[in-house]
Amino acid sequence: MKASFKLFRIAGITIGIHYTWIFALIFFSWTLAMVYFPVSYPGWSTAAYWLTGIIAALLIFVSVLLHELAHSLVANARGIPVHSITLFLLGGASNLEEEPQKPAAEFAMAIVGPTTSLVIAVIFWGLSRLPGDATTPLAAILSYMAIINMYLGIFNLLPGFPLDGGRVLRSIIWGSTGNLARATDIAGMVGQIFGWIFIGLGLFLMISVSFVSGLWIAFIGWFLNSSADASRKEITLRERLSHVKVRELMKPDISTISPEATVGELVRDIFRKQQGRAVPVCRDGQLVGIATITDVKKISQDKWTVTPVSQIMTVEPLYTVSPEDNLHAALAMIAKNDINQVLIIDQGKCGGLLSRADIIRLIQMNRELGLK
Ligand SMILES: [Zn+2]
Repeated sequence: MKASFKLFRIAGITIGIHYTWIFALIFFSWTLAMVYFPVSYPGWSTAAYWLTGIIAALLIFVSVLLHELAHSLVANARGIPVHSITLFLLGGASNLEEEPQKPAAEFAMAIVGPTTSLVIAVIFWGLSRLPGDATTPLAAILSYMAIINMYLGIFNLLPGFPLDGGRVLRSIIWGSTGNLARATDIAGMVGQIFGWIFIGLGLFLMISVSFVSGLWIAFIGWFLNSSADASRKEITLRERLSHVKVRELMKPDISTISPEATVGELVRDIFRKQQGRAVPVCRDGQLVGIATITDVKKISQDKWTVTPVSQIMTVEPLYTVSPEDNLHAALAMIAKNDINQVLIIDQGKCGGLLSRADIIRLIQMNRELGLK
């Protein structure tokens, strides 16, 4: 999740907020100041309820942040880079650069979040028990933080993907079967079931107890259900693409352009006649660069007939795959570098290119024909 605003950095990790977080802050402050604190602690002034409500709402996000920081620090220690954490409507998200490669790393990374929340809950609970008046705003905030952190810990331990508990479950199944796809499928299915339970519970609460709390729980359930579903679909797709080789999508006669050709020829002979936006530039079968429509736009049209392709082409970085690589690896390279295609090198020779659109077309065709 991309942050809308960046706040500060802790241990090399940028902390940011997504604009939806503002709504959560307002919602929490409002329900705490108008409902929770007045009901639990009668007799304060309106200003005291609001001040306590806003401080408690901000502390909810400090708690969420500590939970996420625990995940991120363990991830970084295990060699999985995390450069940012984003706070959003439903909590926080550590932005992992890649998925853990080993079940033990995933287990350690997942379990540390809820553990941190539960430890913080115990600390706040202890502080709230210190002798003194238990009805002051300070005492109220301390015991509220104990409750919130306990909920954070327990909710995240539910064994459905993508919750932490779901990751723990996945790492255990993955570790014992060695099958990541199967483990994700099972943990995702449990996540979907919990999502449905929350939706049902939320709807029930909406009509019986509190409309707003019920709506909130139903919304969390919907979010849980759809992210579990998306994770299952993504892993299934990854699994399928990893069984298809780049060679299977290579075109029988590839079009290339020579670096000595003019930009005019490039537009006339290549871009007008083919669908793609890019073409490999090759000399004697050797790859020397890539020319794209974006490159052509670098020079004005009246210079097209006198400018060689070598002058506008991109020489580096060139992203290449071999025909024996699988489509999942190729798609990962495309996604990671935010490019539209990768070049194919076939035994040291120019082998054409493979675009994002080629892979999407394959997925759509397979779906239409009911192929795996
Ligand atoms: Zn977590």
